[in-house]
Amino acid sequence: MTTYSKTLIQESPIRVKTIVGVAVVVFVFLMPFSLYNFFQEKYILGTGSLSVVLLMAINAWNCWHGRYYPFLILIGLAPIIVIFLGFAIYQQGLIGLLWCYPAVISFYFMLPERYAWGANIVLLAMSLPMSWLFLDAELASRATATLLCVSAFAVIFVRVISIQQNELHDLAMTDSLTGLSNRVQLHGSLEQAVQMYERHVIPMTLISLDLDNFKKINDTLGHDAGDDVLRGIGKLLQKRIRRSDKVFRLGGEEFLILLYETDAKEGFLVAEELRKKIESMQLLPDRSVTTSLGIATLQPNENWRDWMKRSDDNMYRAKKQGRNRVVT
Ligand code: GH3
Ligand code: MG
Ligand code: MG
Repeated sequence: MTTYSKTLIQESPIRVKTIVGVAVVVFVFLMPFSLYNFFQEKYILGTGSLSVVLLMAINAWNCWHGRYYPFLILIGLAPIIVIFLGFAIYQQGLIGLLWCYPAVISFYFMLPERYAWGANIVLLAMSLPMSWLFLDAELASRATATLLCVSAFAVIFVRVISIQQNELHDLAMTDSLTGLSNRVQLHGSLEQAVQMYERHVIPMTLISLDLDNFKKINDTLGHDAGDDVLRGIGKLLQKRIRRSDKVFRLGGEEFLILLYETDAKEGFLVAEELRKKIESMQLLPDRSVTTSLGIATLQPNENWRDWMKRSDDNMYRAKKQGRNRVVT
């Protein structure tokens, strides 16, 4: 059950729309032949194709209402399609085999990549031997070549789309200047930290970090020098924190650090270390860069917005108290 809901959450609305689109296309193109089979008194073929149309429609209906269960498609719908196609090849030879082409593509539209490969392989393992059994050698070899071709194209197409999707995902989640996580990831990460705290009472600490008088750096040394400073600080923050912790660039010259399993005292030590390190870093030729930091350790029943606000407020307090300091 957990696997199902996990997949459900990760599934994009595009997949749902694709599945609905595939069901409509199948309905439009397969339904007439399905009815024609009954008219010709080919009842098994008619029932098989009608079942595929109806199951596709039910599947699309479910997906539309947020119930996308790829594993059920893999062990339910896909085998029924394969069996129907096997019977179609057995009864109609080449004509039956022709339906394998849209079926292969539909697997890649309906299922996650690995599942689609599995269904594709099963379909090929069924249809290719049958084509050699029921067609003459020349037709069977042509059918084999074209079916393998369509399968390979589908695999390549889906791979390319998936790579592009991952690249877009990373682009949307990452700050292009520093390579750190951006604001988009903030909500999810902080919410997760709050849940971990509520379940396991693991202490969590936030550090808000803002560069002091950064505008002056831009104004006197130029925007590029400012960018270099931001990159340098991003690199340092990434290097100094543990792999389990997270750093976000919230925008401009503001950063947020999420420290897991860290109480207020430890958080203060980390913040002080960062402050000193940045000050001594020589990011600029003629002056040192200083930062103001605010700390907040998650409290019982606190939501992530209030938690972050406390850490932000402490950072502004550090500014008011003269900058280049940590306030808890
Ligand atoms: P304070 O000590 O009070 O924080 O003063 P400040 O000058 O650091 O703060 P302020 O918010 O006034 O200035 C932030 C500046 O950061 C303004 C903006 O031009 C600059 N900035 C925002 N994003 C970028 C960026 O991506 N690159 C560079 N070089 N500058 C940026
Ligand atoms: Mg600033
Ligand atoms: Mg600022």
